[in-house]
Parts: sequence; structure tokens; C-alpha cells
Amino acid sequence: MDRPNRGNRKGRKKVCAFCVDKVEEINYKDVPKLRRYLSERAKIVPRRVTGTCARHQRQLTVAIKRARHLALLPYISD
Ligand SMILES: [Zn+2]
Repeated sequence: MDRPNRGNRKGRKKVCAFCVDKVEEINYKDVPKLRRYLSERAKIVPRRVTGTCARHQRQLTVAIKRARHLALLPYISD
């Protein structure tokens, strides 16, 4: 993952990757993208880590749940 953060963790505001890409609706079939927001234990990475805005984080959660339902993504394994 490429983050524009070099050295200083504070001060730099993270921008939502979906907003940057002007994503209106997160597609649950976009598995490679969704996977980037899952931890190695298949948990959804919190938005304070990814910088995803509230709106897109909500869409992301729904998309991931849907993808899991269709077995495109793994369920939490603990
Ligand atoms: Zn956003």
C-alpha cells in the first residue's frame, strides 16, 4: 500500500481512497479492492487506519458482507 506519509504521522490528513477515485458505490464484486481493507484475519480494517470516510466505510462494510455471503471473501477466522 502506498501512503503519502513519510516520517511524521501527525499533521497529515488521510484522504479516503474511494473519495479520491470518486467512487459513488462500492462494488462488492471488486474483490481485490475489498481485500485491501481486510486484515490477515479477515477483519475489516478500521477507518482510522485506512483513512476511509464514514460514508465509504459504511458502504465498504456492506460490500464486504455481501462478498462474504457469496463466498468471494473469507469470514472472520477467530
Ligand atoms: Zn470516501
